[in-house]
Amino acid sequence: MFYFSKSKYCDFNQCPKIPWLKKFKPEEYVIDAGTQARFDAGNAVGDLAMGLFGDFVEVTSYRADGSLDLNKMKALTLQYIAEGKENICEASFDFEGLYCAVDILRKRGDGYDIYEVKSSASPENHVYIVDTSYQKYVLEKCGVKVGKVFIITIDTGYVFDGVLDLHKFFKISEVTALVDEEIGRVEDTLKEAEKIMRSKTEPAIDLSAACRDPYPCAFFGYCTKNLPSPSVFDLYYLGFEKKIALYKRGICSYEEVLKDGSELNDIRRRQVEYALEDRGTYIDKEGIKGFLQTLSYPLYFFDFETVQPVIPCYIGTRPYQQIPVQYSLHILHADGTLEHREFLGRSEEDPRRALAERLVKDIPADVCVLAYNKKFECARIKELAEAFPDLSGHLLKIRDNFKDLLDPFQKGFYYNRDMGGSFSIKSVLPAIYPGDPELDYHNLNGVHNGSEAMELFPRLKDMPKAEREQAENDLLKYCALDTFGLVKIYEELKRVS
Ligand code: SF4
Repeated sequence: MFYFSKSKYCDFNQCPKIPWLKKFKPEEYVIDAGTQARFDAGNAVGDLAMGLFGDFVEVTSYRADGSLDLNKMKALTLQYIAEGKENICEASFDFEGLYCAVDILRKRGDGYDIYEVKSSASPENHVYIVDTSYQKYVLEKCGVKVGKVFIITIDTGYVFDGVLDLHKFFKISEVTALVDEEIGRVEDTLKEAEKIMRSKTEPAIDLSAACRDPYPCAFFGYCTKNLPSPSVFDLYYLGFEKKIALYKRGICSYEEVLKDGSELNDIRRRQVEYALEDRGTYIDKEGIKGFLQTLSYPLYFFDFETVQPVIPCYIGTRPYQQIPVQYSLHILHADGTLEHREFLGRSEEDPRRALAERLVKDIPADVCVLAYNKKFECARIKELAEAFPDLSGHLLKIRDNFKDLLDPFQKGFYYNRDMGGSFSIKSVLPAIYPGDPELDYHNLNGVHNGSEAMELFPRLKDMPKAEREQAENDLLKYCALDTFGLVKIYEELKRVS
């Protein structure tokens, strides 16, 4: 028997090698923080959607070892169908080894409609049609009469008013016609998949645009492990399709990239040349001086940490809105004195008001504020100003006074090979201060990056006191290092100018 599932079918449609590698080389599967966040959001949203049509039954069942009990789920589905249940969640079917679970199976006349829940904002993604076509195919093979097919997505314009309105939070889009066009491909695709999955030989499939479309592939590290390092895929700020186009033309190593030259601007050329030959640090003194002349003491080095809940929990916020919950502020005076201030909200309540009030106390309206990639901080301050009109005058003045420490790097005024073509603070700081333990994020406890901070903050409210104190301390130390790092970057720019 050939066993396949809905997720394997979708993987196969992205690239036939993905389900093969998952089966034969699962240890090569490397999931990034963004993908994990997408999975987590999908689970949370899927649970929420179950109540969209009122009363429902759910078939999800587990074995003693915590794994899904698919046999029990299939039996319960048949039982609920026989009982005429209106809404069956995670309804599970198996046709000769082809398994699928339907997020919501909704009774309509003598048949059923399929509802597939997605945590994204747009229903217009071909993979959703691929996904639901497979579901309809399996259900019809199992003798279920399928009526219409719908995709449920999130309305990111919905504003939470204290009571979550599922009918406003979710958007329902009918895709029956698109599924009917696609469903003819399912049988042939499954035949092809069976051939590949039965073979012990790894499919000879090369890198392509599919490695990022519709999702970044978790096997990219494995499939590129024999490429030179660095390679065309490390080039700064070049679209993935352009990188693939170079790769397909046989241009992969930096020597080849340099010889070809077609995608090299000044910054990428320097990245490549410095990687091929260590030329120390490139410094454009005039450019750096020009930037520093736009600053004035005292300098306020500022950084937000945010959370981005898919299901809004604070009144007046939208799904996926970036909510500032924490900040760190280092203040450097003309005489070299350095002060530090910080704020960390309480996760059981909306932290924005308290944060905004502290912010206007900590930062005068007429001082020079520095961030790294100021667009992010400025956007959050503008949102705070909109949420709290009584503070908006001061907040907007702070926003208007922001300068961006990323500018000198993005404009190519300072570069060394250790930056590896990345201008993120996590690349720039160790490249300027190699081996400095005080500036090494790896030496922090618990929180080492923004994703970890984002994941930890909402959990604070459920922690025992001692654990919470430790976690809060970890969050504060992480954010403080971000702004201390900005001070050190500023000092380096001043030193070399
Ligand atoms: S990295 Fe690309 S080629 Fe390799 S399995 Fe993924 S999609 Fe296929």
